[in-house]
Amino acid sequence: MRAEILAIGTELTTGQTVDTNSPWLSQRLAEVGIPTGYHTIVPDELADIVEALHIAAGRASLILISGGLGPTQDDLTREALAQAAQVSLVEDPAALEHIRTFFSSRGRPMPERNRQQALRPENAELLPNPIGTAPGLFLHLSQALVFALPGVPRELQLMFQEQVRPRLLKHVGSAGVILYRKINTFGLGESAVEEKIADLTARGRNPEVGITVSDAVVSLRIIARYPTLAEAQAQVSATESLIRQRLGEIVFGVEDEELEDIVVRLAQERKATLAAAESITGGLVAHRICRVPGASQYFRGGIVAYTEEIKHQELGIPWEMLRELGAVSAPVAQAMAEAVRRRFAADLAVATTGFAGPTGGTPQEPIGTAYVALASQQGTEVVRHVWSGERTEIMSRTAKLALNLLRLHLLRRPTS
Ligand code: ATP
Ligand code: MG
Repeated sequence: MRAEILAIGTELTTGQTVDTNSPWLSQRLAEVGIPTGYHTIVPDELADIVEALHIAAGRASLILISGGLGPTQDDLTREALAQAAQVSLVEDPAALEHIRTFFSSRGRPMPERNRQQALRPENAELLPNPIGTAPGLFLHLSQALVFALPGVPRELQLMFQEQVRPRLLKHVGSAGVILYRKINTFGLGESAVEEKIADLTARGRNPEVGITVSDAVVSLRIIARYPTLAEAQAQVSATESLIRQRLGEIVFGVEDEELEDIVVRLAQERKATLAAAESITGGLVAHRICRVPGASQYFRGGIVAYTEEIKHQELGIPWEMLRELGAVSAPVAQAMAEAVRRRFAADLAVATTGFAGPTGGTPQEPIGTAYVALASQQGTEVVRHVWSGERTEIMSRTAKLALNLLRLHLLRRPTS
């Protein structure tokens, strides 16, 4: 079985509303083992909806429709379904009664317009909507099963769970489950990661492994399709172990975990306090750490030392060093980290300096160059990286580089 999701609404095709129903439905379908082949978005135009239904019925065995069941003239899903199935619309007495009750229980008369919500294609079954007026529809269109749900996300979600899911489970029965797992890495580019796990990303493998990159974080998505949940879980774990073996320390977290979540967790475990002196990142390192609940016990503070004057005044970076080496240099990054560590009496301190562009940079240190230093009791390490991308990307990636340095240092530190 393969699904197509049809989101109906001119507000969607004009970009005024972002379609969140289709991804939500695809995720729920995956949980019952049904892959989605297509997401289609169509405006509130009868001919377009009918055409989309014909196309969908030709290539999918399950069609889920979102929207267009309302009482207004632009709500055309019922009519489109009747046309596509070549049947007529009939008024459903039970649905009409439900709508009348919906209004009378709120002390209002039923507007005449709402009467059309009691219409259904004659071969369709109505799906009750306990929290709204628009009932859903269930019918067959050629070989495809079709479910039409209201566009209001809360109503769509409730009706999917109560009405659609049980019916699908009956149909798919033994089709099995799909299980997902996301593993996040930092420190290697997409192709370098791919090289290490090329056998796992080969097409047709089960579990399947895909690679995506977002702002310097390379993520691996494991997708397993198996008859039972237990089997899928076992296979996902086996693939995850292989990935962790191959990639080692660059794996920092799973699902939606960010570098800072791990830094704060490790700081808690290691009882280590943190500080930051930031130039190029303008406070992003501190901001990211502070976003994590519980950071206050371990993050002592940060300084945004943006100009040379402030680097000198607040962190004591010698004028000669700034003049001779420039603020974007390894010794300045090192001195900044050591100074803020002393000043804030932290166990670990990071510092960032670099050229974010669009102007500045030198032939030796082009735009995108960043130095990140980490000072601890054991001494100070400095890393240099040259990023591509524009200003905000360079800033954000440098902040991640600093967080990753903290993470790696904390990992090697014994738990106290
Ligand atoms: P109904 O069938 O209940 O009338 P509808 O989509 O025809 O739904 P609209 O007035 O167009 O009714 O939408 C109702 C609400 O649902 C609006 O707030 C709209 O933004 C939201 N909505 C509709 N479709 C989607 C979608 N695909 N994703 C997210 N929100 C949606
Ligand atoms: Mg609509």
